[in-house]
Amino acid sequence: MYKPVSNLYFEISGGCNGSCPYCVTGKNRILPHEQHSAKWQFLTPERCYETMVTLQDKGLITPSVTTVQLYNWGEPFLNPQCIEVFQTLADLGYSFGISTNASVFRDIPAHLLKNVTQIIFSMSGMTQKSYGRNHGFDVERIKSNIRHYLEDWKSKGHVPPRALSFHVYQYNWLEIFAAHAFCRELGLAFTPGYANLGHFELAKQFLTETLSPSLTDKVMSELFTFYIPGQVRPNDFRCPQFDVLSLDQDGNVTLCCGTDASVPGFVIGRATNLTREDILNRHQRSESCKLCQKIGIDYVGHSRPPITF
Ligand code: SF4
Repeated sequence: MYKPVSNLYFEISGGCNGSCPYCVTGKNRILPHEQHSAKWQFLTPERCYETMVTLQDKGLITPSVTTVQLYNWGEPFLNPQCIEVFQTLADLGYSFGISTNASVFRDIPAHLLKNVTQIIFSMSGMTQKSYGRNHGFDVERIKSNIRHYLEDWKSKGHVPPRALSFHVYQYNWLEIFAAHAFCRELGLAFTPGYANLGHFELAKQFLTETLSPSLTDKVMSELFTFYIPGQVRPNDFRCPQFDVLSLDQDGNVTLCCGTDASVPGFVIGRATNLTREDILNRHQRSESCKLCQKIGIDYVGHSRPPITF
């Protein structure tokens, strides 16, 4: 008997304004453009509603069990109708999480803040030198926006659970102390983590040693990759993505949130047009999923050592 998923990843914005080189939507992405899939398309409240209702009718989600994570590769607050999407989810009884680069400020109505399970602020440095190399915005503006969000929520009487996801690179790891102090000052949970290879194609080329020498040098000099060589994927490893449901901004069920539109078979089909079995069997039927397991992208992607602080 299949149970409703705990986490539904629903991309609310197909694009991002950040520059992160290792992200599929980053303006400075390091692989050639045709291997990426940045789509500047946004989830509408109407598409959100019909998709949620059909998944619920199929028994795949339910408000008492499922949290909607409104992000994957895009920046949620760029969606001009994000508040209407939040309202749609709230009307259906769902709670939702958001991960943002805090480059724009959105006035979330007080009554909707209670439906927010967590807001994650994503940063890749505490100085302009390191942060500008990755996300690319003015770092002081970002810190100011985070403060603004927290003050705004406090004034509305409800501050949702919040965290700072600090992406650790070789060139910013010493700033982890400043990031920690920033979190203590503002009451943010601190969740540092090694920046990873970002997306499927880059991981595939890196792990099969087909990435160009110049990009291999870049990866080796910027990311922490010490935990990758010699890793052997256990035969019984079960990809955690099998227990997650993911959707793009157009209401399409996708293979998983570790893949993107440049991966063959990424889009399974519009949720409203698929059967429950089409959705449940999507991994077993996918050649990309088999390749991912064969190369061990799934294992490497889920086995980064934690940074305890
Ligand atoms: S094995 Fe790879 S492609 Fe398949 S669900 Fe896991 S991360 Fe996605």
